[in-house]
Amino acid sequence: MRQRGDIGGMMRITPEIGPLGAPFWRAAGEGRVVAQHCATCDTHQHPPLPQCASCGTSDLSWAELPQEGTLYAYTVVTHATHVAFADRVPYVIGLVDVVPGVRMLALIEAEPSELRIGMPLHAVYRTFSDEAALVCFSK
Ligand SMILES: [Zn+2]
Repeated sequence: MRQRGDIGGMMRITPEIGPLGAPFWRAAGEGRVVAQHCATCDTHQHPPLPQCASCGTSDLSWAELPQEGTLYAYTVVTHATHVAFADRVPYVIGLVDVVPGVRMLALIEAEPSELRIGMPLHAVYRTFSDEAALVCFSK
């Protein structure tokens, strides 16, 4: 995360985009969910790694994933861990299963009372720069 200046008295924080994760962030900026795919063992993985976590090959490509997932777990954040999030609490963070091997940690845009483990969610995108966005999920 990096701080990107002061907006209306609130510090804005955005993800630090390195070369390994850049395809993920840029795809999100285009309204797509992608993850690394290993052709050797036919697995997906997220977050991106230099090598396949299953077989070790570095021959990885990027594959487009469905726009839907299943809520695996969630928590309601009620205490801001940074001043930039003070106006957002309470908010929901969850783990969303998109395809086998890809369980994404993401903001869940729903009221906690609406959420049930195993419910379907769909991806929504929150742009934070000209070419990148956060992948969030909503009901
Ligand atoms: Zn592999």
